[in-house]
Amino acid sequence: MSEIKKIGVFTSGGDAPGMNACIRAVVRTGIFLGKEVVGIYQGYQGMIDKKFINMDARSVRNIIQLGGTVLKTARCAEFRTPEGRATAYKNLKEEGIDALVAIGGDGTFTGAELLSREYDIPIIGIPGTIDNDLYGSDFTLGYDTATNTVLEAIDKIRDTAASHDRLFFIEVMGRDSGCIALHAGVAGGAEAILLPEKETAIDDLILKLEEGALSNKSSSIVIIAEGEKNGGAYNVAKRVKERFNFYDIKVTILGHLQRGGTPSSFDRVLACRLGYASVKALVAGESRKMVGLRGNLIQLTDIVESINNHSYKLEEDLLEMSAILSI
Ligand code: ATP
Repeated sequence: MSEIKKIGVFTSGGDAPGMNACIRAVVRTGIFLGKEVVGIYQGYQGMIDKKFINMDARSVRNIIQLGGTVLKTARCAEFRTPEGRATAYKNLKEEGIDALVAIGGDGTFTGAELLSREYDIPIIGIPGTIDNDLYGSDFTLGYDTATNTVLEAIDKIRDTAASHDRLFFIEVMGRDSGCIALHAGVAGGAEAILLPEKETAIDDLILKLEEGALSNKSSSIVIIAEGEKNGGAYNVAKRVKERFNFYDIKVTILGHLQRGGTPSSFDRVLACRLGYASVKALVAGESRKMVGLRGNLIQLTDIVESINNHSYKLEEDLLEMSAILSI
């Protein structure tokens, strides 16, 4: 393999807190190692539209603490076609970009894997998604911050729930992965947690809530991941309301506020480590790998393996524990 001279870095798919700290790490590590680094705006769309910008150490100053992504992100349908990828590669080649760092989720990795296989360009993926659902990393960038954001909301809602004797249903992000819901639910002392990975019978939920009400609980909070099988917070609340009249019932959908915000210290350190490791891996001749954190060590996983095993494995023990601790 010829020596890498110019590395392209981009963010793609949903934005996640920590992406900027990661871009900074990629740029500065690349420059330190004598490489040129180019930022690609709006992920794959930017490759097709030639949205390239030369980066230097100062171009990533003061971004370590920012949420979102200064390189912007996009979902690009054209890149899913062979023609779209051919245009992207032609543009990368014209720009002299001979290696890529892709920050995103499994969709981003699928695109990167195809490009690298079709055009033999080295790529390293960095798991950047709040869902924490990528195989090969115990944590993905943004997950910790998003969970803390949800937790802050739960704590605030608990204040009002307890003051008014209310039952709150709080819907959080997670179409396929209940990781945020489970962890924020445990940390927030939720009375019940409904997840996409596990069906919850409404009868069982009502029973649990009744037990709480009869044992003098002044409030109850149910966390619902958006992908859970009863159809989301409004549907669950409606069905519970028909048969449960201990508390006033309210619904809060947290929505996109979960994506933004200042990254936590955990996400910033993770971003630095993964960004740094991605460039070191490329320079060492690695390709088609994802850098991840496993047992507090940075490890490489084959990108195909990481795509094919992407789903978060439900921690049944946490769910069981949470049901006991919230009696
Ligand atoms: P998140 O987990 O936050 O949704 P993601 O990376 O999985 O992030 P996607 O929208 O699934 O987000 O993928 C990002 C982009 O990757 C897509 O818009 C598309 O351009 C590219 N991509 C996804 N799947 C493929 C595919 N099968 N072939 C080629 N490109 C793809």
